[in-house]
Amino acid sequence: MPRRCTVCDHPESHGIDEALVTGAPYRSVARRFELSESAVYRHKTEHLPAHLLKAREDEEVAQADHLLEQVRNLQAHALNILERAEKAGDLRTALAAIYQARGNLELLGKLAGELDERPQVNLTVSPQWLELRAVIVGALESHPAAHTAVVKALGGVGSSG
Ligand SMILES: [Zn+2]
Repeated sequence: MPRRCTVCDHPESHGIDEALVTGAPYRSVARRFELSESAVYRHKTEHLPAHLLKAREDEEVAQADHLLEQVRNLQAHALNILERAEKAGDLRTALAAIYQARGNLELLGKLAGELDERPQVNLTVSPQWLELRAVIVGALESHPAAHTAVVKALGGVGSSG
């Protein structure tokens, strides 16, 4: 049955957590925030670890978002190079760009897999992803071998499970 915690309910619970994390004795924390020592002690042992874990998870999610953004930027560059190389008839550079784009997609797929508990970064249904996918597949239509290879690689990216 749920037990109310006067520390968790405290308007300054974040400040209390910070004080406890920096190693302040729970007795002095209790005095400072006008709480009972037993409540602070219980909060420190039972609730604080979960709060810290949550904070760390939030940080990791933020870092993953940043990484995702960087890979997307790389992908935009690779596709830009691919387009220019194709227009210039520079197939060697085009193939290098395709190779790069494919690596980016694999990375995006992995990141999407790690973040798939968060619906807002579901790559398989995001308009950006579908657009990217269409652009890549479309750009490769005149290069059957590369087209086949990339479509095959894309197949692994979109599948869930
Ligand atoms: Zn608590």
